[in-house]
Amino acid sequence: MGSFHLTKMSMKNLFSKPVTKLYPTEAPVYTPMTKGRVINDIKTCILCGICQGKCPSDAISVDKPAGTWEINPFACVQCYSCVRVCPKDALTMLAGYTPAATQKHVHVEKKPEPTPEEIAAKEAADKEKAERIAAAQAKKTAQGTGKDVAASE
Ligand code: SF4
Ligand code: SF4
Repeated sequence: MGSFHLTKMSMKNLFSKPVTKLYPTEAPVYTPMTKGRVINDIKTCILCGICQGKCPSDAISVDKPAGTWEINPFACVQCYSCVRVCPKDALTMLAGYTPAATQKHVHVEKKPEPTPEEIAAKEAADKEKAERIAAAQAKKTAQGTGKDVAASE
């Protein structure tokens, strides 16, 4: 009975199409759940390095002074840890594998230089923050000395 079953299975496999695909010649079928490759929205990334610290395979390297974020897609094991811990939601796991390559390589993202508008917006935000801190400190000092800040303004 066992050998009959085995022969039947062998004959079936002999005349059926292979279940494996000839990647990359044959395009793989991705689903929304496929863990493919990690990409970084570098404009959102703040180069904090948390993803690098969490990566179990040392696939990510962050260099804040140089403004770069690197990933070795051939070292990545698609564990999703970096995507989960990123405080800015800059990382996404694409449902598509790293394109086939003849040589291993590292993918580098470089933080773009801020535009004049972004610099101006940051300076305005910093100024407003400094003014708020100064106002809060003045109020605290006045409360400590019993002086009425509103009356003195
Ligand atoms: S954790 Fe997120 S914000 Fe921090 S370096 Fe990684 S990708 Fe950038
Ligand atoms: S998915 Fe996992 S292995 Fe791949 S880069 Fe992120 S933390 Fe590292």
